[in-house]
Amino acid sequence: MTAEIIDGKAFAAKLRERVATHVPDFVAAVGRKPGLAVVLVGEDPASQVYVGSKGKATVAAGMESFEHRLPDTTSEDDLIALVEKLNADDAVDGILVQLPLPDHVDDKAVIAAIDPAKDVDGFHVVNAGRLAVGEDALVPCTPLGCLMLLKDKLGDLSGLDAIVVGRSNIVGKPMAQLLLRENCTVTLAHSRTRDLPDVVRRADIVVAAVGRAEMVKGDWLKPGAVVIDVGINRLPPAEEGKKGKLVGDVAFAEADHVKAITPVPGGVGPMTIAVLLRNTLVAARARAGLDPVAGL
Ligand code: NDP
Repeated sequence: MTAEIIDGKAFAAKLRERVATHVPDFVAAVGRKPGLAVVLVGEDPASQVYVGSKGKATVAAGMESFEHRLPDTTSEDDLIALVEKLNADDAVDGILVQLPLPDHVDDKAVIAAIDPAKDVDGFHVVNAGRLAVGEDALVPCTPLGCLMLLKDKLGDLSGLDAIVVGRSNIVGKPMAQLLLRENCTVTLAHSRTRDLPDVVRRADIVVAAVGRAEMVKGDWLKPGAVVIDVGINRLPPAEEGKKGKLVGDVAFAEADHVKAITPVPGGVGPMTIAVLLRNTLVAARARAGLDPVAGL
């Protein structure tokens, strides 16, 4: 493979370290640790693993972790009451409600209840709106992590053609906004886009966030493009009783003519928690009247 493999794991480890080195200054100035509250409703095994990893990473960065694990019978009103309690708790700088929520709970209502100043996932409409109009905002962790990897590889992104495939509120749309803010010419593609391979072929930057295994083929990618693969898809197992292989949305083995590409796993995935820690410190500093992004 001649394409450079972008090591998201190593980049994320450095970001986590950078956040951790700034935490003591916050503690000295404010007299307490930055705090992240994570709320999990139900027993979804993947969500349980994510919440556990987030808690451990928070403590490892020198911050306070508050975990709230609630049964999947929890009502929307009770969940919102907990969010409101966390909004009022001065020790809590960041609130993350792990998605997906059970069917009887409206995600939007719960996210809307989070104080935008503590919305470290960046999903609240106030933060989405601020990002869209170019104001300081808490930005969703996965797309912000993708942008960090792109800037590390390419430096100035100004004038580059970028395509984002997938228009979800948590990845695709904020990713497109971030690339626009960097002065890219941005195409936001989705399931109704016509001639997708041709549209992708024009791009210097390709961000794939679809959730379809190896959908983006090698011959869709321009030689020299930088490719960020957000997708996490599990292939059917080769043998019964074994787990299937994890692959991205890009046919990785066909992409050796690109400039650089993130692998799956080990690319974008590790960035999400690292950026969550960064966002928690940013939120904590902003609440304390300190420069939110200094040194980050
Ligand atoms: P969603 O299912 O919310 O959105 C998928 C998007 O892909 C939609 O906009 C959809 O279009 C579009 N799409 C579906 N089929 C096609 C197609 N054939 N051609 C073009 N576009 C298509 O997914 P998410 O954004 O939440 O996640 C995307 C992927 O990223 C998933 O694999 C997920 O697991 C992964 N992910 C990884 C994270 C990480 O690494 N930490 C974090 C978050 C997500 P339309 O709107 O028209 O339906």
